[in-house]
Amino acid sequence: MRKIKYLFVVVFILVACTTKEKRKNSELVKLEDNISKPNIIIILTDDQGYGDVGFNGCKDIPTPNIDRIATNGVKFTNGYVTYAVCGPSRAGLITGRYQDRFGFCRNPLFAPKDVNMGLPLTEQTIAEELKGADYQTMAIGKWHLGAHEQLRPLNRGFDEFFGFLTGGHNYFPEDLVFNDLSELNGQWDPYRTKLLRNNSRIDEKEYLTDALSREAVSFVEKNKSNPFFLYLAFNAPHTPLQATDKYLERFNHIKDKNRKTYAAMVSAVDDGVGKLLDRLEALGVEKNTLVFFLSDNGGAKNNSSDNGELRDGKSSLYEGGIRVPFALQWPGKISKGIIYEEPVISLDIAATAMELAQVTPKNELDGINLIPFLTNKRNGIPHQKLFWRKYDDQSMAIRHGNMKLVQYKTPDKVLYNLKEDKGETIALKDSISHNLLFNSYKEWNAKNSDPNFLGLIHGKKYDSLYPGRWKEVEKY
Ligand code: CA
Repeated sequence: MRKIKYLFVVVFILVACTTKEKRKNSELVKLEDNISKPNIIIILTDDQGYGDVGFNGCKDIPTPNIDRIATNGVKFTNGYVTYAVCGPSRAGLITGRYQDRFGFCRNPLFAPKDVNMGLPLTEQTIAEELKGADYQTMAIGKWHLGAHEQLRPLNRGFDEFFGFLTGGHNYFPEDLVFNDLSELNGQWDPYRTKLLRNNSRIDEKEYLTDALSREAVSFVEKNKSNPFFLYLAFNAPHTPLQATDKYLERFNHIKDKNRKTYAAMVSAVDDGVGKLLDRLEALGVEKNTLVFFLSDNGGAKNNSSDNGELRDGKSSLYEGGIRVPFALQWPGKISKGIIYEEPVISLDIAATAMELAQVTPKNELDGINLIPFLTNKRNGIPHQKLFWRKYDDQSMAIRHGNMKLVQYKTPDKVLYNLKEDKGETIALKDSISHNLLFNSYKEWNAKNSDPNFLGLIHGKKYDSLYPGRWKEVEKY
């Protein structure tokens, strides 16, 4: 009897040890799995010109911290967004799909009662996809993808939100006077709402850009042990041109008042980027964090930005509207100092993030994982062709290799060779290339949708169709 009891105890200890070992192993696998999933940060600026970062040759606005990203990793000389203004460009970026596929073809109106005014619920954001891979997610700053409750960040895959819902915002805290959407009466009033922390309005004390940077640092601190996804969408340097003395004093050498304020706003972003990068280093997560930096469209006329050699700016389908400052770093995986000249596009961010997180997207993506191209694991180029459409202007553009066919405010489509003619000044007479590119565009466009909603340019029409637009809005 004693022997049997002894045997039972030995078996019990063995089973307990094995179970403990198994649990330990599974915890280790989970930990290793999480380590293999990099953190993802997207730093998006608003209406910043191609020429307004040091890594693209800016002379009057130092951007040492934004430049760190390009120096520590990759500078893309041909980095594009999918549209030349804010809303549609963000819809493409956050889904990884050309927004024309799902009818987000124009800047939305601010219409918190309208569930169709924003990113359709059939679409999945990067955050929704990464949630499936146990990522902690946060959106900071400008949303602009819908103000209806169902379209807000917390219902689109984000665990946390700090920012504002509309297409722009005032920067000084004393200007933020509206406590609730029900107090608003016009399209530009949302620029002066108090900021939202999740579902609550807060009394912010700091200059907007500093507040957004502070929240970004706090989020990575809280989540240093999790895989995390941070979408940091600065409002700067979008109008209104507003900066504090702290930043303005750095630019006394700039005589033009607007350019000086713009420079100060970019400098505030740069300080914030520096704080965030410093904190990633201090927390020891820098090597496993992939950081993207880009602007949502080219520099605008009204903010005194500079698109360098590129033609035109915001709103245009010439290069100045769609080619943007674009860089990434991932120190654990990607070599320093790469200059990548093949065309890439904001759509690639979602594709890269989802593949690294090992999730299968619900919808077909238009971007591609850039990492194998940057580590020489894959030959060739990410994209044979890139496409742009401005539905309301009946404008189009396609880039194939160095050739670009564009129709923007001209009666005809015009062909340029971007390698020899970055500024799109010499119209080429090559009917074969012309036809080839236009046929490709037509093939792509055949799968696109008409707009889902009336846009910023249809404010009066929308008001007449929906006279209660500003009334009876639920509290938020
Ligand atoms: Ca913009």
